[in-house]
Amino acid sequence: MFVTTDNSGNITYASQAFCELTGYSKNYFEESSPPLYLSKNVSIHCEVYQTYTQTFQTNTDWTGEIQGSTKQNKTYCVTCNIEPILENDGRVDSYIAIMQNITANKKLQKLVITDELTGAYNRRYYNQILPQEISRCKREKNWLAVLMIDADHFKKYNDTYGHQAGDDALVLLTQTMQSCFRRPSDFIFRLGGEEFAAIYSITNPEDADMLAEKVRAAVYNLNLNHSGNAAFGRFTISLGLMLIDPEGFYVEEEIYKYADEALYKAKEAGRNRVEKRSHDDDIELF
Ligand code: GH3
Ligand code: MG
Ligand code: MG
Repeated sequence: MFVTTDNSGNITYASQAFCELTGYSKNYFEESSPPLYLSKNVSIHCEVYQTYTQTFQTNTDWTGEIQGSTKQNKTYCVTCNIEPILENDGRVDSYIAIMQNITANKKLQKLVITDELTGAYNRRYYNQILPQEISRCKREKNWLAVLMIDADHFKKYNDTYGHQAGDDALVLLTQTMQSCFRRPSDFIFRLGGEEFAAIYSITNPEDADMLAEKVRAAVYNLNLNHSGNAAFGRFTISLGLMLIDPEGFYVEEEIYKYADEALYKAKEAGRNRVEKRSHDDDIELF
């Protein structure tokens, strides 16, 4: 499957297979010359997109993955190899992009890292992302927040309203977390049962508390009845926050433990609250 583009990456010709994948006709591509990078979510692929656009500024090759939207507004994913086609005098005439459809493969990869009930990432992905984000934050000199979240008296919620209502509450909790964490570098996980985590990077450590508090308040303000949660009468969460200093060196396995200890403190102190561990506490260094 291939397309040709002009000097700026706008499609001038599309093969039949690319037309079938995207749902657009050959005429559409030839007449309206849309950009090859048809994704509506360029911000998510920011780094990829930057190297991609450099191709057309520097007349070089590019190999990468492109996510796009079909005419029917479905997402597709292709691996793509872009090469300049040169004139006799060495100037770039146009580009050819040869692609392979990897949409099915991508869907499968996503399933492996996604929690089935809530659509949040699962524990497997948490284990994969945490070390990657720690390294990234060290490189970029940002703080990393690891936030543990646990629904309060959730056993009683199931006992009172039934297991299905419990499931619905977990989905609602996930959606509420998603509304608070919207940046591409924010991650939300369901670690198991009614226990969740969020990983997010910040430049200012005080922002970590603010975001954790925002999640707590957003869940509180759902005002979801929970008679078994006697102190509040509604569905609430407890949160344990662990801040990772970009200058610090942590025993990685211990990070979960520290965040979990903070969560335990929040439970002990009455629930529906955020407690934290930070670099000021005597955290074991190596
Ligand atoms: P605490 O405030 O101390 O966290 O009390 P709790 O009742 O939330 O904690 P506990 O660990 O005793 O119980 C967790 C409950 O979460 C028990 C289980 O029935 C429920 N739960 C775990 N996974 C699911 C799920 O996928 N769906 C539903 N509906 N309930 C779940
Ligand atoms: Mg609980
Ligand atoms: Mg629990």
